[in-house]
Amino acid sequence: MIKVFEDFDITQVAHYQSVLESNGIDTFMKNQFGTSGSGEIPFIEVVPELWVLNASDEKQARSLIAELQGPDTGEPTGPWECAACGTPQEAVFTHCWKCSEARAA
Ligand SMILES: [Zn+2]
Repeated sequence: MIKVFEDFDITQVAHYQSVLESNGIDTFMKNQFGTSGSGEIPFIEVVPELWVLNASDEKQARSLIAELQGPDTGEPTGPWECAACGTPQEAVFTHCWKCSEARAA
């Protein structure tokens, strides 16, 4: 099996899985129920993963996923740092809480 995709957002992984399946690719989702598992497992270990069963399907699977992901929107998703004043920001903020500078794309 070959892992072709992983994301903390299980709905995204499930969506990609259904698209691959509808294209005739046999898939397997790993860590599907990871987030409800025991607290002893480090969070990083339970990222839902999408695998293809046949290595020969890998190329098609990756191109389908790339298609679904579309062009990179450049939308920032993680913590960032204000370009104007250098203050670290939480991912949810679109503007610096300190100086109100807009988040750079
Ligand atoms: Zn700032």
